[in-house]
Amino acid sequence: MIIAGNWKMNMDRASAQKLAEDLSGQAASMNNNAQMIVFPPAILIDTVVASRLNENLQIGGQDCHAQPSGAHTGDISASMLVDAGCGWVLAGHSERRTDHHESNQDVAAKASAAIDAGLSVIICVGETLEERMAGKANDIVAEQIEGSLPADLPHDRFALAYEPVWAIGTGQVASPEDVDAMHNHIRDVLVARHPNYAKVDILYGGSVKPDNAAALLALSNVGGALVGGASLKADDFIAIAQST
Ligand code: PEP
Repeated sequence: MIIAGNWKMNMDRASAQKLAEDLSGQAASMNNNAQMIVFPPAILIDTVVASRLNENLQIGGQDCHAQPSGAHTGDISASMLVDAGCGWVLAGHSERRTDHHESNQDVAAKASAAIDAGLSVIICVGETLEERMAGKANDIVAEQIEGSLPADLPHDRFALAYEPVWAIGTGQVASPEDVDAMHNHIRDVLVARHPNYAKVDILYGGSVKPDNAAALLALSNVGGALVGGASLKADDFIAIAQST
């Protein structure tokens, strides 16, 4: 079970240090199988690496470039994340797809670069409200998966995050029934692509909070959560991790 915290463009050195200390301190004494990973802004990765008390708290980048190095002002490469102490990276978060116009092809190239550099990757997909209302959610998500997973992606190096765009940062969590149906659909799409993808964790993301986490994490094809707002408070994030 993966409990991942996407800090987005939040926190400063002092708050990142405190959160890393609190989370890693509590992660060491948790008696379930939750693997906690945080995704700080790139400039705070060093702080989190230096501040965590143990490696029970894993660290990832929020994005990486598809190229290993070169003239790409403002970007960072997958190998830079490895060098900084990361084991993970997000690819294709809806805010990247929207703000930076990342296509499925871009996401696949980034995921591929991440694997080449030695990272594991959480690939994000999810439909908009308009697409859901039009009855297209299953098709859109299948298309995103088809396009965003690079060829030969090893099953033990990635997780897939289903994040309906309308549920991210809105407080409007998807119902357990909808999450169950979509995660079952995603499992079918993954297994059709490769039988080993039966083992891949499928995370749910979108307004996960301590009071709704248990019902979502109990679903058979939910292998964890990708958490935004609630990952910025140690007590909330730990409570979510303890709901597994
Ligand atoms: C996210 O950032 O991926 C996310 C799901 O955010 P929130 O939990 O705030 O909805």
